Amino acid sequence: MKTHILGDGIAAMMLASRSGELPEHEISIVSPEEAPMSKDHMLGFWNMNGLEMAVESSRASWSKWAIITNTGKSVMHSDKHPYHIMHKANYIQNCRDKATQEGVEFIEEKSMTTTESSQTFDSRPPRASENAMLQHFLGQEVEVDKPVFDSSTAILMDFRVDQSEGMHFIYLLPYSPTQALVESTLFSTTVLDREYYVNTINDYLADHYGASVHNIIHEEQGVIPMGTLSPHDENIPGLGANAGAIRPASGYTFVFIHQQIQRAIQASKQGKPLRFKRPHKAIDVWMDAVLLTVLRSWPQQGPKLFGRMASSLSGDEFVRFMSGQANWRLRLKVIMAMPKLPFIKGVSKHIFQRSEKVVA
Ligand SMILES: Cc1cc2nc3c(=O)[nH]c(=O)nc-3n(C[C@H](O)[C@H](O)[C@H](O)COP(=O)(O)OP(=O)(O)OC[C@H]3O[C@@H](n4cnc5c(N)ncnc54)[C@H](O)[C@@H]3O)c2cc1C
Repeated sequence: MKTHILGDGIAAMMLASRSGELPEHEISIVSPEEAPMSKDHMLGFWNMNGLEMAVESSRASWSKWAIITNTGKSVMHSDKHPYHIMHKANYIQNCRDKATQEGVEFIEEKSMTTTESSQTFDSRPPRASENAMLQHFLGQEVEVDKPVFDSSTAILMDFRVDQSEGMHFIYLLPYSPTQALVESTLFSTTVLDREYYVNTINDYLADHYGASVHNIIHEEQGVIPMGTLSPHDENIPGLGANAGAIRPASGYTFVFIHQQIQRAIQASKQGKPLRFKRPHKAIDVWMDAVLLTVLRSWPQQGPKLFGRMASSLSGDEFVRFMSGQANWRLRLKVIMAMPKLPFIKGVSKHIFQRSEKVVA
C-alpha cells in the first residue's frame, strides 16, 4: 500500500529507516510545505533495547547522572542504560541512508498524490492549548576558561538557579573538563527573552564552577508543549509527537517514538492495519497530569519533588520510570517519595479542573 508520511523529522525518519519491516507498505517521506527550516539540536536518551541506531549515532554517553538541589546531590548510576546524547542531524542522516537503501521515496508536498488505496500519516507538530505548560530552554555548547567539569557525570537537573519564573534548572552535559552543553530550562506557561537564559548560564558557571565562557560553539533553543495536545490536523492520523509521543510531564519523547513505531510494526506483522498510538499507559498520563498541576500551581515544590525522587530510586529504576517501563511497585515507590501535601492538593485540583471542563 502506498503510505505517505507528512513530515521528515525524528518519527518519520525512524519509521523510514525501518521500512524493510513493513513490506506491505511503499513508504514515501513528504516534506511539508509550511515547514520551518530544519535546525540541528542535541537529543538525549537512555539506552534501551532497540535503540542501537541511535546509540551508533550518539556523540557521548554517561553511566552516571546527577540531580542537584540547594539541599543535596543525588548521583544515579546504570551500566545497562547509560544516558546518550546525539546530534539530531546525525541521526536523521543515518536514518535517511538506511531508508534510501530500503527504497523509500523522498518527495515535496506539492508532488504528493493520494488515491483511494493510499494512506497518509501526519508527523507535523501537535497543537497546544493557549495556556499550556511549556518546557522552554536555551542551551549553549561552551568552552570555559579553566578545567572545571567532571566529565564522568551528566547533570540532568541542577535547581540552584532563580526560581521566580517557574520551575527552573540547569541541564549540563560535560564533554570534557572544559567543554559542556549547558541549558537553562523552565517549566512554565511563558517563554522568556533569550537574555534571561543566557544570563542564567553565565551566572551559574561563575557561581558554581568559578568559570567563564571562553567560546560558544553552538546554541539551541526549544519549546516543548506539555500535557494534553491536539493533533495537527484532526482528519489525518498522526505519528510521533503528533500521535501523543511526548511524555506529558517530562517532555521526554525520543524513546516513546521508538516504542510507538515498534508496536505499530509488530501489529502490522500480525496483519493489523498500520496505526500509531499514544505510547503511554493511562496511569502514567494521569500521574503526569497531577505532577503538572502541582508544578503549575506550586512551582517552588519542583526541586524538592525531583530531588526526593532521585534520592529514592536506583539508576535503573529512574530510567524505567522515565521511559514508561514502570510497574506498580515502582510507581508506588515514586508516590511514597513525593512530598504528600502538595500531591494531595494537586490530585484534588486536577479532579476539580477536569469536572469543571466536563460541566462546561
Ligand atoms: C532544542 C531541542 C532539544 C530537544 N531535546 C530533546 C531531548 O533531549 N530528548 C527528547 O526526547 N526530545 C527532545 N526534544 C524534542 C524532540 O526533538 C521532539 O519531540 C521530536 O523531534 C519529535 O519528533 P517528531 O517526528 O514527532 O517531530 P519533529 O521531529 O519535530 O518533526 C516534525 C515535522 O513537521 C515539520 N513541521 C514543523 N512545523 C511545521 C509547520 N508549522 N507546518 C508544517 N510542517 C511543520 C518539520 O519540518 C518536521 O518535518 C528537543 C527539541 C528541541 C527543539
